[in-house]
Amino acid sequence: MSSTVVMKFGGTSVADAGRLKGAAARIVAKREAGHRVVAVLSARGKETDRLIADAQEVSPHPDPREMDMLLSTGERVSCALCAMAINDLGHRAISLTGSQAGIVTDTSHTKARILDVRADRIMSALDDDSIVLVAGFQGVSTAKDVTTLGRGGSDTTAVALAAAVGADVCEIYTDVAGVFSADPRIVPDARKLAVVSFDEMLEMSASGAGVLQLRSVEYARNHGVRIHCRSSFEDAPGTVIVSEEETVEHPLITAVTHSTGEARVTLLGVPDTPGIAGRVTTALADANVNIDMIIQNEPVSEGARADMSFTVPRDDVTAAQIALDPIASEHGISVVADPAMGKVSIVGAGMKSHPGVAAKVFRTLGEQEINIEMISTSSIRISCVVQGDRVPDAVRALHSAFELAGPDTIRPEQPFGEFA
Ligand code: ASP
Ligand code: MG
Repeated sequence: MSSTVVMKFGGTSVADAGRLKGAAARIVAKREAGHRVVAVLSARGKETDRLIADAQEVSPHPDPREMDMLLSTGERVSCALCAMAINDLGHRAISLTGSQAGIVTDTSHTKARILDVRADRIMSALDDDSIVLVAGFQGVSTAKDVTTLGRGGSDTTAVALAAAVGADVCEIYTDVAGVFSADPRIVPDARKLAVVSFDEMLEMSASGAGVLQLRSVEYARNHGVRIHCRSSFEDAPGTVIVSEEETVEHPLITAVTHSTGEARVTLLGVPDTPGIAGRVTTALADANVNIDMIIQNEPVSEGARADMSFTVPRDDVTAAQIALDPIASEHGISVVADPAMGKVSIVGAGMKSHPGVAAKVFRTLGEQEINIEMISTSSIRISCVVQGDRVPDAVRALHSAFELAGPDTIRPEQPFGEFA
């Protein structure tokens, strides 16, 4: 049986009629090369942002179920239009909603997780020699409601389908040429990486690289799906994401990533008793707020109170404050939010076996007079929270200190919309 390929096109790759036809032509070329093709499309251009703005115009806190009904339309439009274009190229194509494609999720509206992919409808369409177009970013919940998978969720749709249909590769077509050693908008001589391991990519996505949704990388690692992240505007190979065993080189540092969307929440005067940290984090988890770094200092004297800080996505600050309100008033804790924070991280599988990497990071930031407010590490990542306006300087300094620039630099005329 011929091989199956999943091709995912991001919003800028289908933004107007010309680009949509370009995506249709690429899909058809893949079919004509003998592959069975499942294509996943994002909403066109800034359509999802527009829909969110529409909702906010009529309701300050839109009902999440209705939000999903609304947001899921963007991807359907892309797929229906692309199917029309493919049919005109002489091939049979059918478009499916996430629900029709058998993507079953939990009931967590606007941030749903995929529980199962029942791909029989896709399989029979492929057996019928059709090209199958699936609306990204959506599914149907176990309560039979339409759900969406969180911003950037079409990547996860593509990977989940690739796993379900046993695709050879999940190709992510985007408006950047691949995964870079840093955001090329900040570091013009950032290098395109040929190969990145799942573990490195997970750390990169989690620490700000916008090129792939974090959950898609998690899903790919768990199911062994090979991802090829490449430009939809040129034919050059992009970046392949594979298991660590398949990577040949193990550079000390692979990339510098950053995020400017961080906020710090500090709890002042937390009683030093067992169970408080658990209650704070449970309240946040129940409100679906993802916390990242956590710091707690132990009180210096017996009976004194402690301070606890953590970072959350800036958009979740209000939700975090509301969630903490009951505990704060019960225990006389004051909650302070500092919304203008950023984070810079270095990621590299090679740092596992090399001492001195952290020292070099802190020295480099110190030389730039950049104050480090919080630090967290994993075995292959070091992250520092800094003031948001110092993030670009921090990224450039670390990229140059670790000599990550390379010959494979990006052409200036390329747009970078989906990198962020
Ligand atoms: N359209 C959705 C978004 O803008 C999903 C996606 O493009 O992956 O986040
Ligand atoms: Mg994306």
